[in-house]
Amino acid sequence: MNDRFTQTPILAHKAGLPIYLDHHATTPVDRRVADVAMRLMLEEFGNANGTENLHGERAAAAMAKAQLQIARLIGAAAEDVHFTSGSTEAIQLAVAHAIAARKAPLRLAMTRMEHKAVIDTALRAQQLGLAKVSWIAADDKGRVVWQDFERVLKEGADLVCAMAANNEVGTIYPIEQMANAAHSCSADILVDATQALGRMPLDVSTGGYDYVVISAHKIYGPKGIGALVSPKFDRAATYGLIGAHAPTPNVSGAAALGVACEIMEREGAEEARRLLVLRDLLQERLTSMAGIVANGDPDHRLPHNLHIAVAGAPNDVVLSRLRGKVSLSTGSACNSGAQEPSHVLRAMGFSDDKIETCLRIGLGRFNSVEDIERAAAFLTEAILDVRIAMSGA
Ligand code: PLP
Repeated sequence: MNDRFTQTPILAHKAGLPIYLDHHATTPVDRRVADVAMRLMLEEFGNANGTENLHGERAAAAMAKAQLQIARLIGAAAEDVHFTSGSTEAIQLAVAHAIAARKAPLRLAMTRMEHKAVIDTALRAQQLGLAKVSWIAADDKGRVVWQDFERVLKEGADLVCAMAANNEVGTIYPIEQMANAAHSCSADILVDATQALGRMPLDVSTGGYDYVVISAHKIYGPKGIGALVSPKFDRAATYGLIGAHAPTPNVSGAAALGVACEIMEREGAEEARRLLVLRDLLQERLTSMAGIVANGDPDHRLPHNLHIAVAGAPNDVVLSRLRGKVSLSTGSACNSGAQEPSHVLRAMGFSDDKIETCLRIGLGRFNSVEDIERAAAFLTEAILDVRIAMSGA
């Protein structure tokens, strides 16, 4: 195997690769996951819909095993796991199902902290006259303003959309309490667990979540596979006429998601503890410089997340200095592409000027202490350089 693709950080440096600290955007595939996907593509490549022969039977068995592995991680029933191309499709299906189940427009409730995959789906449904969106206020740490949530529930909601944790500032949400509050007002809840899965406890059996969405590429699996976990979801009812035929399933992808979940079940808690120590080390190094503060909720934050505002240093200039040394980002992958100020930071009341100084750092499974020390040194140097350049000195 070519050294450039190795996941050992020390070898990655030798190969001249930048240190990867953008794990909220996507994660590298764990070799153990890739091995399973490879075996299913090369050897057990049958069509899971065609179980008349042994190849098809084995493919169907691989799908069933993956459903079990996913279900076990979050305490769900295996038959409630429906494979999708990722979280975006799972969100769209969940909202479409909720709309299909109602005669009147669906009353949706959410904060503006949600991912665009949720917000854009909701706004599109609203534009089509199929839904009406009510916004719940968030505070400057990205937390739900509880009284405002209660106000929205009292005014009437059918489906609450709540992320388990935010993909930019890492704020963790009280989804169990939110689910209880929603259910006590006869509303359903859709939990976007894309960033939280495996990194914090998530128990579908106790919380009673109606729809949960997950994505493999955030947990060291491949891109283009995810799942909607829901006891309510019915594909045929959601798709109507075009749901009459079941597509050929992505067996290798499903198996990869399954094993990625199994690894998270076994190692996720320990990994979270290790990354928390590395994150705190990096945070301490960076915030010991003047004018750098960490954003998000300091008490309820994803362990691998560090989001900072760096006074006097525009983030695009800092990133250009870091190019080839450290890979990180200014915000969510889609916002960065569109060059728009982050809607998440705006929802937290940040000014556009402040937003332009923010950097999102996401640590991951294959980062070492050496990576973090080196990244801290690169970041410190880049920020000092940019500040000097901007002050015209
Ligand atoms: N929800 C959250 C919180 C995310 O971070 C992302 C991806 O960045 C998505 C949804 C969309 O996931 P996918 O890339 O699997 O469609």
